[in-house]
Amino acid sequence: MAFSLPQRLASLPPYLFIDIDRKRRAALAAGHDVINFGVGDPDQPTPGFIIDRLQRAVRDPVHHRYPPDGGLPEFRQQAADFFRRRHGVDLDPEREVLGLVGSKEGLGHLPLAVVEPGQRVLIPDPAYPVYRAATLFAGGLPYAMQLSAENDWLPQFDAIPAEVARAAVLMFLNYPNNPTGAVAPRTFFERAVEFARRHDLVLAHDAAYSEVYLGSERPPSVLEVEGARDVAVEFHSLSKTFNMTGWRLGFAAGRPDVLAALAKVKANLDSGAFGAIQEAGIEAYAGIDRPEIAATRKLYRQRAEVLCAGLRSIGFRVDPPKATFYVWAGVPPGYDGMQVANKLLDEAFVVCIPGIGFGEGVANYVRFALTVDTDRIATAIARLRKLHW
Ligand SMILES: *Cc1c(COP(=O)(O)O)cnc(C)c1O
Repeated sequence: MAFSLPQRLASLPPYLFIDIDRKRRAALAAGHDVINFGVGDPDQPTPGFIIDRLQRAVRDPVHHRYPPDGGLPEFRQQAADFFRRRHGVDLDPEREVLGLVGSKEGLGHLPLAVVEPGQRVLIPDPAYPVYRAATLFAGGLPYAMQLSAENDWLPQFDAIPAEVARAAVLMFLNYPNNPTGAVAPRTFFERAVEFARRHDLVLAHDAAYSEVYLGSERPPSVLEVEGARDVAVEFHSLSKTFNMTGWRLGFAAGRPDVLAALAKVKANLDSGAFGAIQEAGIEAYAGIDRPEIAATRKLYRQRAEVLCAGLRSIGFRVDPPKATFYVWAGVPPGYDGMQVANKLLDEAFVVCIPGIGFGEGVANYVRFALTVDTDRIATAIARLRKLHW
């Protein structure tokens, strides 16, 4: 019997990271020394104080049963405490915080909670591919908000046609931004909240990199804006802050009726994160100001300097990222990003991701993840210098 993919799945482009990874593994299997700046997954281990707490918690039989819906009350409380300390925002842990099985899970399920088939969803271009895929799964119609270097990689709300803005029910934003490394100032979030309020749409802000800032200033939360919680939900993740991508833990915060709708979707699909992992998450947020966490930022800052200087010497256009662990690089003249990504992988066994993996409007960019140590970065740059450009 023939099985054919349903349209919503068939219409998605192949998840680009998977294709690149297949090629990377082929190069590895052929015995080549591959230097991987591809997928954004921290190379450093989870700090020991978090692992210690997991080891204790895993023996507690209370965690061997289903965790409570929406997350452990203590985890939600810790998330609210983090918000008060970091952002000066008081959240009700019961109504304004929702535990997630990683933030991707929440972002992916959100359109099912707020979008009717055929309704408009505003999505930045470039962006983390999940926003668009999740919109299509829910039957929503994506509208691309073009980001560009000239506009500091911030969407221009004035450029959205009035009928699109009127029809939109959801808008995704992401700062600090993957893939560009851009940070949004508070004034931008004020404009975004005002826009969402004016058009009565849900503002979903992905703050997965809020603690991965490389400058001296900490990126703001959209919830710091007066009245933001009437329109906005913000997604937080332990993955990048604490090197915990494999653990699958995050939370959403903000607008209570949207969180309740998201909780209803989740109650029908998953049963929450493992309780012992949530306990470890409590320990993580309690220790957010520990030196281990600052050391990770310092590491990315050093790597960014080495990689940016090296790429610039070859003819890439790069600014050091303000946050995240990505270097977003304009490719040398005469190439597009896909050609450069293929050239690097085929001729130098260096993996990066072409901009086209994040949107249609950034074909002349590639993204490097700073998850490679400085010696290897130097080796990669030396290889790229030897290529014929
Ligand atoms: C890594 C990443 C996430 C996913 O984080 P998880 O909490 O591991 O699911 C979300 N958004 C962006 C932009 C990311 O790069």
